[in-house]
Amino acid sequence: MRAFAVVVVALSLAATAEARPAKKKRVAIDAPAPRERVAPVAKALRDRSIGAPWSGRLQAPAKLKGGDGYVIRRPLRAFGTRTTVELVKDAVTNTLEAFPKTHVLAIGDISAERGGWITEHASHQSGRDVDLGLFYKKKPAGYPRSFVRATKANLDPAATWKLVWELAKTSTQDGGAQIIFLDYEVQGIIYRWAKEHDVSAKRLSRVFQYPNGRYSATGIVRHFANHDNHLHVRFKCRDRDTQCR
Ligand SMILES: [Zn+2]
Repeated sequence: MRAFAVVVVALSLAATAEARPAKKKRVAIDAPAPRERVAPVAKALRDRSIGAPWSGRLQAPAKLKGGDGYVIRRPLRAFGTRTTVELVKDAVTNTLEAFPKTHVLAIGDISAERGGWITEHASHQSGRDVDLGLFYKKKPAGYPRSFVRATKANLDPAATWKLVWELAKTSTQDGGAQIIFLDYEVQGIIYRWAKEHDVSAKRLSRVFQYPNGRYSATGIVRHFANHDNHLHVRFKCRDRDTQCR
């Protein structure tokens, strides 16, 4: 028993002795230059979408920041996964570049900083849902503060098609668009314009549920009630979001 105790003491002394050079090493690691280079990379990969859009949360999120040509209606709800934020930003930027004379675009809610339930939504809980306004021939009264119902008379189908396509085409990539909710009649307005302007039948059927009926499970853009004034984009779970549903 005593011999065992001696061994333990000897071992812990050895451990203490070993701990000392390690301390010296730490000083070297703490030197500012390498630390600055390493830290941002690790942080960029930490964001996670957890659970389902209607029962989920968000970890280490990215924030969509304001910029030229678009308005973030509620900055406290502009948090998403890094992928969601980047894909939305790219789609919006590409559309605004193609239509430099169009009015400002309304960007609605993504998620709260930690995700979870927020007022006015069942989903938007895990950083993968985004509400985006539409483009109009003339900026309607109240927009971009509020979303405005689209009709054949007021909708700008060219700019709106561009935005829909920029989002829909991400569907082939990790964390790309999974589904976009938009009223069936409004889909029809954009679809007919695109068809008349030489968008291929193949592309149209990939993008729109229209004209197969509002309950048809075809296309990325699907009918949903009360979605005649904005696009609701849901992005897919990324490979690294192992707890995402
Ligand atoms: Zn929504």
